[in-house]
Amino acid sequence: MPRLSSTVTRVPQSGIRRIMNLAAGRQDVVRLEVGEPLFSTPSHIVEAAVRAVRDGYTRYTPNAGLPSVREAVCARMHRDYGLEIRPERVCVTVGGVGAISSALRAAVEAGDEVLIPDPGWPNYYMMAVVAGAVPRRYPLRPENGYLPDLDELRSMVGPRTRVLVVNSPSNPLGTVFPPTLVEALVDFVSTHDLILISDEVYDCIIYEGTHRTACTYDPDGRVVAVFSASKTYAMTGWRVGYAIAGEEMVRQMAKLQEAYVSCAPAPSQKALEAALAGPQDCVEAMCLTYRENRDLTCRLLAERGIPHRRPEGAFYVWIEAGCRNSTEFAHRLLTERGVALAPGSTFGPRGEGYVRVSLVSAAEAIREGVAALAAAVAGAGAPGRGRPDGCPGGCEA
Ligand code: PLP
Repeated sequence: MPRLSSTVTRVPQSGIRRIMNLAAGRQDVVRLEVGEPLFSTPSHIVEAAVRAVRDGYTRYTPNAGLPSVREAVCARMHRDYGLEIRPERVCVTVGGVGAISSALRAAVEAGDEVLIPDPGWPNYYMMAVVAGAVPRRYPLRPENGYLPDLDELRSMVGPRTRVLVVNSPSNPLGTVFPPTLVEALVDFVSTHDLILISDEVYDCIIYEGTHRTACTYDPDGRVVAVFSASKTYAMTGWRVGYAIAGEEMVRQMAKLQEAYVSCAPAPSQKALEAALAGPQDCVEAMCLTYRENRDLTCRLLAERGIPHRRPEGAFYVWIEAGCRNSTEFAHRLLTERGVALAPGSTFGPRGEGYVRVSLVSAAEAIREGVAALAAAVAGAGAPGRGRPDGCPGGCEA
């Protein structure tokens, strides 16, 4: 067998994918691990894409996206955030993943350090390593409401630190950063001359609080705010998202797209345009379902005395499973009780002992899944339950 890049081969596979692969094709499994809406893409978006294909949108587009799509993004940023963004600051990408990975690659030299959240979405680690950078995890502590602590971040900045990655609303925690924190984080990266990659792909899935995009405060093009059609419009398979960044960063990201993907698929770009410019009541309806699922899940967990964090945004509940090894716990839950969920350790060392339940499933699946989880937690000895300090940081039990 020929030798392959050790940079790539040593990147760990996502633990969420591992569970998904094990659960795939099994009809008897309650699926609470998935991080994608189970809704179909709204029909007006599908129709617009079909029309676009018939009208000849079957070719390469400019690397940074079709002009009309970049304009639709600007109009959306004005409508939803009151921001005046020029199309030159928009890069249409292959999902949020495409935006984050290009921005990281454009920002770092080999050996530079990237600060990523712990717990945090596992792909940040993978993308930083593949970009030749050194990922360094900053803690999100329950006692601090799982929000980044600026003093702690400051203590981690060294001569090789180039990028701070933040994620609000958060996967897996469901936190929504207060606007003052978002502003403070932009100040922080300015002070330390870093680039802020602000992953905001769940920006439209908010139950409480206000989401303020980091590009609101960007003084000099050092913020890359990342958005996606995937979660907002149930479009995970269309692979389309976008970033708002400084013009030079957008030029470099577009050049990288030439190298790796050329451009986001033209029909998907036209679907994104229709999604952004069209009626938004489909988003509200989907959010309402997630909110009902959140309320149901948190109620069921509370009734069983299982500590968890009630999310203000995104569609996950972070649960203290009281297990020593969450990967083993999740595998056993799947094989013995037929329930798939994400092991906390895949989100970083601070996720050990936790699991993540997704809120996209039907209420009945949630009921069944939480009952099985509760039985497994009881079997694991249920530490956390009856702890004298309860579950700090906004957790409930
Ligand atoms: N960021 C976070 C926090 C996510 O959870 C995901 C997907 O699960 C993404 C980015 C990327 O989504 P996509 O590439 O489908 O837009």
